[in-house]
Amino acid sequence: MSVPLAVRLQGLRTSIFSEVSAAAATHGAANLGQGFPDDAPPPHVVAAAHAALDAGHHQYAPGPGIPALRRAVADHQRRFHGHHVDPETEVTITFGATEAVTAAILALCDPGDEVIVLDPAYDSYPAIIAVAGAVPVRVPIDPPTPQRGWHLDLDRLAAAFSPRTRLLVLNSPHNPTGLVLSVDELDAIAATCVRHDVVAVTDEVYEHLVVHPHPRDEGAVAHHVPLATRPGMAERTITVSSAGKTFSVTGWKIGWAIAPPPLTTAVRAVKQFLSFAGGTPLQHAVVTALGSDDDTYAEVTERNARRHHLLLDHLRAADVAVTPSAGTYFLTVDIASLGYDDGEAYARTAPAAHGVAVVPLAAFSATPEPVRSLVRLAACKREEVLVEGVRRLVASRR
Ligand code: PMP
Repeated sequence: MSVPLAVRLQGLRTSIFSEVSAAAATHGAANLGQGFPDDAPPPHVVAAAHAALDAGHHQYAPGPGIPALRRAVADHQRRFHGHHVDPETEVTITFGATEAVTAAILALCDPGDEVIVLDPAYDSYPAIIAVAGAVPVRVPIDPPTPQRGWHLDLDRLAAAFSPRTRLLVLNSPHNPTGLVLSVDELDAIAATCVRHDVVAVTDEVYEHLVVHPHPRDEGAVAHHVPLATRPGMAERTITVSSAGKTFSVTGWKIGWAIAPPPLTTAVRAVKQFLSFAGGTPLQHAVVTALGSDDDTYAEVTERNARRHHLLLDHLRAADVAVTPSAGTYFLTVDIASLGYDDGEAYARTAPAAHGVAVVPLAAFSATPEPVRSLVRLAACKREEVLVEGVRRLVASRR
């Protein structure tokens, strides 16, 4: 029996990521596709998880998260971003950043409300907007040209706001493009949100993965600034992040939403019925993780930058068209420089045919044509995997 999805969900497709990763595993491909690290987390973070289990933290946490973790999130926000928040009334622990974004959208959107998202976008945003019965309004980020990297046209973004706009979902550093918005760009976006009285949900999971520019790539931005710290935004921003990328614990799914009390109340109202509370021992371990010393955080950022530059150097040496990123794990490659024009077809066949896995940019876009030949590579793999992945990519040239 075939079971049709509810009408509002009929645009949802099974994501290509699972397909590519399964093919990568079957064929022993170098997996430069899915964005999970193959490093171990810092040893003191793993030790903290063991200690939390041994200490007997096995039962439900309070719905908004254990108090120590809410304090640790507030301390982290003050330490890295100068953003002062009250852990009691402004921090909620969630099942990863994904649940925080989900709760925010479901809490604030009525059917028919418009939600502005960038295009390409992380695929959970349009899916949850559809679940809410709201309407995604996608603002394209211009694909890279030989002269310039990915670029967000701020006038186009401002023009997308309408009286029906309820939310802006922003993601910087941005998956999949690696774009990092500058302070000037954030200020322009803040002014637009204030003018239209719109709430922003900002996905900042890559906040510690900014990439300092390679000496050859001038002009790239290399500093993450939360939108919530810009003028007029503290009262209208839900800041979302998680421990997964920063500490190489993507499977733990410990995330958080930071927002002023009225928005926090709204997020908690939904979150309590999504999962109530999860991962009690891991919440304890993330207290330790967030309290890590400066060297631990610096190593996270530097290792990511080192790997970016390694990928860039190997790709450029082989004349592969690659766009440097200012943040995230990800880099954009144009497979036209390898003799192909369809990123989706390449991604489907490459694990078996060439022993390498990549992800097509088209999978993140509602208007795939302008990004048809672009694929995303993930730099969060051991260096020998990166080098071998590039070797196989280059060997697929025709
Ligand atoms: N947001 C973005 C932009 C991501 O790239 C990812 C992971 N791929 C997530 C959220 C998921 O975060 P979490 O695992 O904490 O839910």
